[in-house]
Parts: sequence; structure tokens; C-alpha cells
Amino acid sequence: MHSVYASMDTTIFEHMSGLARELGAINLGQGFPDEAGPSDVIAAAARALTQKSNQYPPGAGLPELRDAIGAFYARRQGVEFSREEVIVTSGATEAIAAAILALVEPGDEVILFQPAYDAYAPMVRRSGGVPVSVALTPPGWRYDAGMLEVALTTRSKLLILNDPLNPAGTAASEAELAAIAEICVRHDLYAICDEVWEEVRFDGAPHRSLLSFPGMRERAVKIGSAGKLFGLTGWKIGWMCAGAEMARGLARAHQFLTFTSPPALQWAVAEGLAKPDAWFAAQQAGWATSRGRLKQGLEQAGYVVLPNAATWFLCVDLAASGIMLDDRTFSERAVRQAGVASIPVSALFEGDGPRHVVRFCFTKSDATLDEAVERLAAFRRSLTA
Ligand code: GLN
Repeated sequence: MHSVYASMDTTIFEHMSGLARELGAINLGQGFPDEAGPSDVIAAAARALTQKSNQYPPGAGLPELRDAIGAFYARRQGVEFSREEVIVTSGATEAIAAAILALVEPGDEVILFQPAYDAYAPMVRRSGGVPVSVALTPPGWRYDAGMLEVALTTRSKLLILNDPLNPAGTAASEAELAAIAEICVRHDLYAICDEVWEEVRFDGAPHRSLLSFPGMRERAVKIGSAGKLFGLTGWKIGWMCAGAEMARGLARAHQFLTFTSPPALQWAVAEGLAKPDAWFAAQQAGWATSRGRLKQGLEQAGYVVLPNAATWFLCVDLAASGIMLDDRTFSERAVRQAGVASIPVSALFEGDGPRHVVRFCFTKSDATLDEAVERLAAFRRSLTA
């Protein structure tokens, strides 16, 4: 077994979802909505299964979907991608893997901001690269150009930026993005822009891709996810967008990972992306209501909720809430004793990081959120009594 995997545990997401299933707990851990998802998009997939080809679509994705992704970003973010600049993948995680495999050579250093999706560092190592961490700190989790400069060496090859940031639930400001872009250009770095939360934003600010800053177009790959856009996480349809030359290299890496993804789902996502802006606004408003409900419930129960601007997650500061357990202990006990699964944020840090922050997913029905809050309120009382 390769040493990267031999020494590794199951991901925290699978671990907590497994415990939630086994114990019958409410799962506010792994991020997924408990609604069925948009019925017309699901119906489009069902129709495509019986009316369209079920044989291999083109490796880079159905041309119709690649055009729809280009049109979506032109309309929503003012960034243009031709069909040749879009590659459909089996979820954003595959896109991240393909991009790392395509760009990282043995010995290359890859800057990862922490907390980070736990898929990044192992994939960098498996490609022979060396992850170099730049830690962000709660409650703001802001980017600091000085800290980024300090982490750079002559071996720095690329950085991975997840914006908006999971698990923090924050979004980089225009000034932070401009500073990161300027450093990428000055130090000749590539950037993998994991923007799967681009449409899950509650601060009223429009999403702006790092790829759209001066000098970034030819050095950045922008990654998106239909799972997050439509609340259909099991579909595993994602994509990567990049300048034509980089896209050719990315497609070569992708062709030996999953080669291609189910055509019926690709047809349906193409239809979904053509939905009007008002549909996306309504979906976001629904998520905002759930976010408000969980935030208010947690606060009434005595939990201190950290500032949040984006994603499906709220983070709680345990120490500020008067709970002296570390986050892993809290999560392990809360799922067993209170019947509510969460994600300990330290699981998304390598080495030292804060151990007092726990993440809860709020894209659930009102009844589920209310029941979870009631259980967490009683649990907190039992801890602080
Ligand atoms: N992005 C998901 C989350 O944060 C996890 C993804 C996964 O489990 N592969 O919950």
C-alpha cells in the first residue's frame, strides 16, 4: 500500500455520516440537503436515461453541458469560457485530483490554506508534491498576504484557494483576492480555485473568481460543482474551467481518472444551468432561511456562532460557548449522547489548529433543525451544569 494511504484514516465526513447512520442520529455533519432536489432537474435526468444515449459521452463532457457551463459563468460572473475551456468531471473532488495530477511534479511545493478540504494534502503528496500550510484563524479566518509571502520558496508551484471557504463559511474580500492574485503573478504560481460554494452566499456580495483577476486567466483553473449548485450532492457532476492550453493538459489527467461521467446527469445539469437568475435567488433564499433558523436556535441554546457569509455551514465556538471539550470529543459525544452529528473543524487542519470549533450543516427541514437544536440545548446543559 502506498504510504500516503497506509497511514490514513477514513475521512471525517464518512466517519461522522457512518456514525449517524449506525446510531440513527440527526446528521448535521457531512454537507448535504435533506430535500429531494429540484424536481424538474431530476425529471430531466430520468427523461435523458430513457431518451438519450447511455454510451460514453465525450471524455471532456457533453458539448451541450460545456456550453451551458460557459453560458452560466458569463451570465452570473461575467467570466467567459469557450467549450474547449471546460472539462466535465465526476464531481469537484475528481476535478481537484485531476488538476493536482496535471500540475504538480515531484518536489513542487503547494500552498494550502487551512482549514482545508481533507482531499487536498493527500493528493498533493501522492503526486510527489509537498503541502505547505498557511493557517487562517477564527473568528474571521482572513487571508494575510504577509503570511502567504513567508510560505513561498523557489519550489512553490501552486496554491489551492477554496473560496467561499468550507468549513469556515467565510468568503474572501475583493482586496484579499486581489492580493493573492498579485502574489500568484509575481511569483509565477498556478492557482486551483475550488469555487464549489460560489452560489451559496448570504452577504449580498457577488462571487468573484480568483481566475478573473489580472494575469490569472492563464495560470488558474476554476472548479465548480452541480452538487452544490442544485443541492444534488450524490450526482457527482463537477467541472474545471481554464485557458485553452491548460485545459488540454487537465483533460489528459482527467481521461485516466474517470474518463467520463453519466450522460443522463450531464443532460439534466445542462438544463438546470439554464434556469433563470430568479430560480437561483429563490434557492439561496430558502437556504438563508434555514441558516437563520439554525443560528437563532443555537444561540438561544447558548452556543456562540461564528460570523458566516457563505456555504451550507455554521461554525460554533465551543470555548466561547462555555464548553471546555475539544472539538473531536464534542463531536464524538454529541453524536452518541445527543444524537446529532457535526464535524470537528480540527479534522480539516494538519498539525496545529484551533480545537474549539465545530461545524453544523443547516440545509435541512425546519423540523430536523428544531429537533437538532433541542437535543443540542439539552446536551449543552448537561456539559455546563
Ligand atoms: N464537501 C463536503 C462537506 O464539507 C464533504 C465532501 C465529501 O464528503 N466528499 O461536507
